[in-house]
Amino acid sequence: MPDYDASDSLSLSGIQHFRFCERQWALIHIEQEWEENVLTIEGNQLHERTDDPFIREKRKGVLYVRGLPVHSSKLGLTGICDVVEFHNDENGVSLNTEEGKYLPIPVEYKRGKPKKDQSDILQLVAQAICLEEMLICRVSQGSLYYHEIRRRVDIEITKELKEQVHETARRMHQYYDRRHTPSVKTGKHCKSCSLRHICLPELLSKESVSSYMKRMLAE
Ligand code: SF4
Repeated sequence: MPDYDASDSLSLSGIQHFRFCERQWALIHIEQEWEENVLTIEGNQLHERTDDPFIREKRKGVLYVRGLPVHSSKLGLTGICDVVEFHNDENGVSLNTEEGKYLPIPVEYKRGKPKKDQSDILQLVAQAICLEEMLICRVSQGSLYYHEIRRRVDIEITKELKEQVHETARRMHQYYDRRHTPSVKTGKHCKSCSLRHICLPELLSKESVSSYMKRMLAE
């Protein structure tokens, strides 16, 4: 599989939408009317979560970098890590302004609690793949911090999880290239879907979501 150009990159955070519901992802990232809103909301959440993004600080030998932009040309994904911790490790890589060698651990902050599906985990693993590609190092662990339960859950970055991320990114690009919005498959997840008010099953047989939205905006 050839590498993707930066201009063909998709949003890394879309992985969690895609794994939650492929149609929801397409409504946000292909139909696009929603992408700006979602990115704005995500940006605000990031700001709230990490109080002072783009800041780096060092505590007890660990360097914390907040709001770090990441990219993978293998995945064709671009995103922002909430926090990346750089831990001293002799097997690590040199960093511009620091002495010694470091290995990164991405930490993603979530409002809720751990989900039954793997959407949060795969988003984190995608960040790890980006960091490995950018820094040319091995990222063996990441963490998810859930505000609702105030707990940090460590995730091992396994080969199997990485393969799932590669497969998910490949399918996201396939859908995006074809501008394909999958049809409705309702389930329990629809109850917590923020787009359920526009994703009505009866819409499908009558008109596309984009024409529905244009009509709604015109009314
Ligand atoms: S309402 Fe259900 S099928 Fe429609 S986008 Fe949301 S989760 Fe997917």
